[in-house]
Amino acid sequence: MTDYLLTPEQISLRDEVRSFVRDNVSRQLLLDMDAEKVIYPRQFIELLASQHLLGLRFPQEWGGRGLTWSDEVLSLEEIGVLGASLSCLYSLPSIVGEAIHVFGTEEQKSKYLAPILSGKLTVAEALTEPRGGSDFFGATATIKKDGDFYILNGQKRFIVGAEGADLFLVYARSDSQGAAHRSISTILVERSQGVVVQHVYGLMGTRGGGTGRVYFQDVKVPIANLVGGEHGGYEVFTRMMIPERMTSATGVLGLARAALEISSQYADRRKAFGQKIREFEGVSFKIADSLTLLDAARALVHQTAREIDLAGSSGYIRRKVSEAKKFATDTAWTVINNAMQVMGGIAYTNVYPIERLLRDARLMTIWTGTNEIMSLVIQHEYYRELLSSHPAARDVEEDALNAFANGEKVYE
Ligand SMILES: Cc1cc2nc3c(=O)[nH]c(=O)nc-3n(C[C@H](O)[C@H](O)[C@H](O)COP(=O)(O)OP(=O)(O)OC[C@H]3O[C@@H](n4cnc5c(N)ncnc54)[C@H](O)[C@@H]3O)c2cc1C
Repeated sequence: MTDYLLTPEQISLRDEVRSFVRDNVSRQLLLDMDAEKVIYPRQFIELLASQHLLGLRFPQEWGGRGLTWSDEVLSLEEIGVLGASLSCLYSLPSIVGEAIHVFGTEEQKSKYLAPILSGKLTVAEALTEPRGGSDFFGATATIKKDGDFYILNGQKRFIVGAEGADLFLVYARSDSQGAAHRSISTILVERSQGVVVQHVYGLMGTRGGGTGRVYFQDVKVPIANLVGGEHGGYEVFTRMMIPERMTSATGVLGLARAALEISSQYADRRKAFGQKIREFEGVSFKIADSLTLLDAARALVHQTAREIDLAGSSGYIRRKVSEAKKFATDTAWTVINNAMQVMGGIAYTNVYPIERLLRDARLMTIWTGTNEIMSLVIQHEYYRELLSSHPAARDVEEDALNAFANGEKVYE
């Protein structure tokens, strides 16, 4: 992001996080995570918390810094150069924290939000089930009221952070008969209440972030842990599109930026046919294309962040965060692929981290809603805007020679 558009405080925040990423996170941690020698880097979260870097936009009262999305995206892009696992673990307090901050009770905020932001409680968000992640309304995990408790049963899969999380934000069916949008509830479940986590799969990338399968068998959760009221899960889910998608969209900028910088420097040093490879149009134009795409993705992310700060949550905002997530993750995939192509065979080896970034970035077009689901939301919200608005703008449809040949305007 060009410094011209940032306040002195924002530049200082970005530089603070940049220094943290440079000085406090060892390369060995990244290597050990990728080799799955580290299953869940709890110390990374504790370190972030010790620097007061978690959940920046939450009020100071709960341990945040009272900042905005426009600030948080600056921080997130810097963390993103560490790859998808660490940027996701950095984001989870911001994601789960959103549900507690917006829908939670004061008691939940002091019992959960404050310890999350101080690194004492680690969190995961459990939405996806073995039967699918795209269809939120198809949830089969259930909660049933039993006195002052809910009894939770079911399974979730592909849950980042599950292996180390102390607390899970879980979506489960609370009414088997009700209308789809009034049948799911959201509840905070402590691991110690009987959650079982298994490490089931090997992952192509995004390793070492504790992704696991989660089992709930007659888990007894106090009613006080419900977030957003009974059957209010759809409102929570709708709101959660903002932090889930903004964190994916922003983290991935860091991955792509790192790959672009490494490959551009390589192209300035590497020679073929007696000249630097960047002097070949086939190479330098790839770099130009990547840079243009990345700048466009970053602009969309920052514009969307500013809009959320000013407008909160709405259908329009959901369209914009979905556009940002789709465009930024597709862009990162292209940019990192270009980086590999620019560098040739060596980028396919573990001499450079390009192959790891590529493996990580691939997931980001799938998680927090696939990019097809982003398209679904984007066109849906756009049609709502288009068909309900009557702009006082010029009717360009009339600017055709035969515009009034109404007999030719056949729609059915
Ligand atoms: C490593 C990893 C970490 C993850 N972390 C988490 C996490 O922390 N928490 C969590 O809850 N989930 C997590 N996920 C799950 C992720 O969000 C889901 O994988 C994703 O939402 C897609 O769900 P699915 O895999 O069940 O695919 P499905 O929903 O079965 O979709 C399969 C395909 O069908 C397409 N499709 C489905 N419905 C439509 C439609 N209506 N229109 C067009 N296309 C459609 C999809 O785009 C996709 O291409 C993670 C996944 C992975 C792999």
